Amino acid sequence: MTAESRPAVWTRTSAARDALRDRAAWALVPTMGDLHEGHLDLVRAAASVGPVVVSVFVNPTQFAPGEDYDRYPRRLEADVERLAALGVIGVFAPTVDELYPTGESTRVDVGAVARPLCGAHRAGHFEGVATVCTKLFAGLRPPVAAFGEKDAQQCLVLHRLVEDLRFGIDLLFVPTRREDDGLAMSSRNRYLEGDQRTTARALSAALEHGGRRLTAGERDVGVIEAAVRGVMIDAGVDVDYAEMRRVPSLAHEARAEGRVLLAVAGHVGRARLIDNRCFDVRDDAVASAPLMDAHTPEAVAARWADRTT
Ligand code: AMP
Repeated sequence: MTAESRPAVWTRTSAARDALRDRAAWALVPTMGDLHEGHLDLVRAAASVGPVVVSVFVNPTQFAPGEDYDRYPRRLEADVERLAALGVIGVFAPTVDELYPTGESTRVDVGAVARPLCGAHRAGHFEGVATVCTKLFAGLRPPVAAFGEKDAQQCLVLHRLVEDLRFGIDLLFVPTRREDDGLAMSSRNRYLEGDQRTTARALSAALEHGGRRLTAGERDVGVIEAAVRGVMIDAGVDVDYAEMRRVPSLAHEARAEGRVLLAVAGHVGRARLIDNRCFDVRDDAVASAPLMDAHTPEAVAARWADRTT
């Protein structure tokens, strides 16, 4: 790594904003750090827009009491090195005081789409996500921001947020990066010990099972959910939820139809893991689908193809 290729590291919103002010096309990739290949896929996809800035911030307000905020892995120096190798121009790594200074009190509640699934199991989680992303969006004014479909509900919450608060940010949703056996990459996979790693495969296996039931013609959401939950329980996962919901509303409907999200969450040892698959369900055919057609890497790249930085 050459000295020139090292990204700028900003800890102040004002410093980052000043450095980025004159750029018309750049993309922000918000993360909590401890970067893995899934995060790097976001960076690669975002690079089709222009220069990429990655934020690294373990956001305290999105962790419920008793969750893993204190032990969440923090490895900023290693993260910066990995990002340098990808040509990232800047890393925004604020302190907690920078984003939550004494006296701040504003919180952002996106409403219905934040209620089910992880919203029902992690008190205040999406309020924390929406609040910190509002701070990032308002503070840095990115033209584009990239998020992973791994956190599909988060994508839908932020889509609602950007629409409702008129941020005018083009959102990019990147497919989930998986290990060879199907396990979705996650910083929390580090918590898995011994044969828990094998148990964790049950999440993606359960989703595949649900997909096969759909493909075989099953359309009763309750039947599919029970089958998916069963795969996880049999493997020893302590299930939080296994649900099929409509996209983008996350409404729960009795019959699978149109764009649906099959989403699961559960505990394996100390790790709380989530995963999901999205399908297009028609009367006579079922196909894997992106979360939102307008926000795929291809769609976003096409919109920005003619723009200059
Ligand atoms: P995190 O650091 O866990 O908050 O994740 C930062 C961003 O990376 C979020 O938009 C996540 O959805 C995304 N992400 C995390 N894991 C993956 C993965 N396995 N594949 C694709 N994106 C991911």
